[in-house]
Amino acid sequence: MNSSLSRLQTYFGHLDAQPLLQAMIGDEFAGKIGIVSSFGAGSALLLSMISEVNKATPVMFLETGKHFPETLEYIENIKNKLGLTDVRMLQPDAKLLGNVDPKGELWQTQPNRCCWVRKVEPLQRAMKEGDFQALITGRKSYQTAQRSDMQTIELNEDGKFRINPLALWTKEMVKAEFKRRDLPEHPLVSKGYLSIGCAPCTRPIKEGEDERAGRWAHTAEMPGGEKKVECGIHLEGMPVRPDWNI
Ligand code: SF4
Repeated sequence: MNSSLSRLQTYFGHLDAQPLLQAMIGDEFAGKIGIVSSFGAGSALLLSMISEVNKATPVMFLETGKHFPETLEYIENIKNKLGLTDVRMLQPDAKLLGNVDPKGELWQTQPNRCCWVRKVEPLQRAMKEGDFQALITGRKSYQTAQRSDMQTIELNEDGKFRINPLALWTKEMVKAEFKRRDLPEHPLVSKGYLSIGCAPCTRPIKEGEDERAGRWAHTAEMPGGEKKVECGIHLEGMPVRPDWNI
């Protein structure tokens, strides 16, 4: 194991969400850490915790151009309620986007490529420009089988640490704390959307489905395809720049 990762896990890996955030934002990665937030169904909880440590923590939102209008309104609502002062709307590179997805329909046929140009590349660029060493995420181990063994502190293949303060929280804990803090719900939650991303790739979930089942549901029907479950921003093996002749 990488020695820096081992040290961080030894000293901080056991901490619960709020003290872990305090240690990471206030000390260990001071000025070199941000959060990537979807401003989706459960995002306000972690943002609320972060606002208690430092309201100027950079919050990065991947403005893919494909979001629900309700999400964009919710960003303003949360930003104002929590007093967040550095919410950054990360846009795709216009030239790359024009080359890769000129009609804006790539999500239908090549969603990984669409996510790369609209999410992965803009985040990589922002991490480099901001000289970030670590990224806070709201991922939780209960959400999907792929996330079941995640740790509170990880080292991604991009060389940046991922801090996952809610990794070990249960669904019930998240719900209770969200309520205790009296946080506003994303307007689509009451319509059955329990995980919210880009509009074309998100549907409400059905009774008994896991909360991310409505993400990229259309990809299960794609020829030879396995259902897409992650956008790729935290995936190991996601190339820095795929060989797509762009
Ligand atoms: S979630 Fe869908 S629309 Fe959004 S970037 Fe990924 S493939 Fe494209």
